[in-house]
Amino acid sequence: MSKRVLITGAAGFLGSHLSDRFIAEGFRVVGMDNLLTGDIKNIEHLFPLKEFEFYNHDVSKFVHVPGDLDYILHFASPASPIDYLQMPIQTLKVGSLGTHNLLGLARVKKARVLIASTSEVYGDPLIHPQTEDYWGNVNPIGPRGVYDEAKRFQEAITMAYHTYHGLETRMVRIFNTYGPRMRVNDGRVLPAFFSQAIRGEGITVFGDGSQTRAFCYVDDLVEGIYRLLMSDYAMPVNIGNPDEITIGDFAQEVIDMVGNPDAKVVYKPLPTDDPKVRQPNIDLAKKLLGWEPKIDRAEGMARTYEYFKTVVPIDTRA
Ligand code: UDP
Repeated sequence: MSKRVLITGAAGFLGSHLSDRFIAEGFRVVGMDNLLTGDIKNIEHLFPLKEFEFYNHDVSKFVHVPGDLDYILHFASPASPIDYLQMPIQTLKVGSLGTHNLLGLARVKKARVLIASTSEVYGDPLIHPQTEDYWGNVNPIGPRGVYDEAKRFQEAITMAYHTYHGLETRMVRIFNTYGPRMRVNDGRVLPAFFSQAIRGEGITVFGDGSQTRAFCYVDDLVEGIYRLLMSDYAMPVNIGNPDEITIGDFAQEVIDMVGNPDAKVVYKPLPTDDPKVRQPNIDLAKKLLGWEPKIDRAEGMARTYEYFKTVVPIDTRA
């Protein structure tokens, strides 16, 4: 009998790509999502498959899954700054209560759990690039605190289940990731810039655009997560693409790619606690998993643009 994996947040950007990957690897996939920020369209192609099941459920409430489970991947959470500003309580609950429920489920099922942590645990970082042994610089009561602290609690409780109960746990710290199926109106920089450039609107650069990010194409991220799950390493591992760029230069890349003469940069205020720099140090992932990103930004952005071309005209504005 093939292995069975529960993926929470399965209708989301990362959850849906992970569902595809595990199906392709011959797993049976149980997808779970309450569709708060996920979209059923991301997984509707899986519904005809007998290897795929779907539960519409909020994992912040008790989670029941009949039958065996070999692996649990916890990817349910609002994941863009706009989303967690608008849904602060749900964000806190899914990272804390939701994680607790899934760790409890993993104990009962004797399953291995991988939790989706984030570069946000490093906050507005004082060391650069960020290594896994950096403890971070997070404002607990700022607008990002609901996400950052939920994810920090998530790491803490996952570690406690590992050390106290001997549960098999894995933690991935995910840096900025992009690709097809990102929600057009989620407010994150890449969907914002692509939809603005396609519609010929102002490209909203926050602050002076000197803040940096490093963007990883989703297929590379999924490969790193798959390898981490299959490894025997219980401590957090950064997965991301170290190719760092300023947001101002990134805006120009999108403008050049889309080529709409109406799309020009407009500057907006920098949101509170917006990290000034972010770039993963991936030495650990390289050594441990033999992993590094393969798809550069030119290639990844070209693929992502193909997707946004098909969805932007039909999506309603945020
Ligand atoms: N950003 C921007 N314009 C936008 C959306 C985001 O300049 O319309 C900036 C934002 O201030 C941040 C970076 O792009 O510095 C990445 O923002 P995002 O919301 O994608 O996620 P973050 O990396 O901050 O979690």
